[in-house]
Amino acid sequence: MIPSILPTYSRAPLKFVRGEGSWLFEADGRRFLDMGSGIAVTLLGHANPTLVDALTSQANALWHVSNLYEIPGQVELADRLVEATFADTVFFTNSGTEACELAVKMVRKYHCENDRPERVEIIAFDGCFHGRSSAAIAASGAEKMVKGFGPLLPGFVQVPFGDIDAVRAAAADSCAAIIVEPVQGEGGIVPLPDESLKALRQICDDMGALLILDEVQCGMGRTGRLFAHERTGISPDIMMIAKGIGGGFPLGAVLATENAAAGMTVGTHGSTYGGNPLAMAVGNAVMKTVADDAFLAEVNRKAGLLRQKLEGLVAEHPDVFEGIRGEGLMLGIKCKVPNADVVKAGFDAGIITVPAGDNVVRLLPALTIGDDEIAEALTRLDKTATAAKAA
Ligand SMILES: *Cc1c(COP(=O)(O)O)cnc(C)c1O
Repeated sequence: MIPSILPTYSRAPLKFVRGEGSWLFEADGRRFLDMGSGIAVTLLGHANPTLVDALTSQANALWHVSNLYEIPGQVELADRLVEATFADTVFFTNSGTEACELAVKMVRKYHCENDRPERVEIIAFDGCFHGRSSAAIAASGAEKMVKGFGPLLPGFVQVPFGDIDAVRAAAADSCAAIIVEPVQGEGGIVPLPDESLKALRQICDDMGALLILDEVQCGMGRTGRLFAHERTGISPDIMMIAKGIGGGFPLGAVLATENAAAGMTVGTHGSTYGGNPLAMAVGNAVMKTVADDAFLAEVNRKAGLLRQKLEGLVAEHPDVFEGIRGEGLMLGIKCKVPNADVVKAGFDAGIITVPAGDNVVRLLPALTIGDDEIAEALTRLDKTATAAKAA
């Protein structure tokens, strides 16, 4: 008999009932060090007092009005994002997937408004992940996501990640946009080399195409900069964000230049909940904290510490681990044993990690993790490795 929850997930037998900073508490009282943050979401830790305050004061004032009325928190957060980035304008969504939908619509509308409606092809990369909607799975093209769900939304082509020649070849006839994660998350924590990202920008410029960056996972300070692409000096035309911006409250956004967004006039897009006052209260509190040089400098310092210790861990367990990759506090441990075994052994050692593609185990701690917690993570990962090897 089908369970009352549609069984699309294989869940670990853990019931967390409370969180505090980098710690999660199981119903049975066990305490786990959370190095997964609900997949890069609880950016400032669990039950962060600033975020709890922001959410509860808004909850006491007003939950929801819809986008038929002005929402002061939206203007405040949009202004903050515009001020801190390449963007001129922002649309708020409830998730990364919805941000992907709008990014795709915006690209199509842009070319249509510029008298080339036949330009629909969006180039995406093998191993990418942009969500689970029809557009997002069509972008990915991965068999495990698309099988049985055809006909797929047309207009997507995939090339090997970072293969600039393949992009050039695919873009030769007609290219509406390129969509890429500056650091692939689900694909296994794979940073796109700076030169490749610059080359993608150049190809878009040459073709009159738009560059969409998906910073849903790698954005919001996770890599040690507010947004991962900043390291290259280039900027996109459209950027999707979600996950960390809400700190655990469902929130996403599409950021765009005035040029890319010009066709998105009244009535062309909408959302009942997107930019709801509760989400805005939390989003503003997160942005206020993270868009700060001193905060980001701390993230970089701690990232250096964690990475150095992880390199030591790999050296200690050469039969279990192959190496460390990633940027900032978005790190992947490439495994030699099945990554699922490592994640499971981690549960027994009281540490939460997240599996990713290419047999990688992801570490995505809260950006507020303390030095002592980083040390504790290493103690627990060491235990994990010993157990995973025995498994
Ligand atoms: C998680 C993720 C998404 C989808 O976000 P949802 O909020 O799950 O819809 C899109 N892109 C990237 C890079 C992601 O990591």
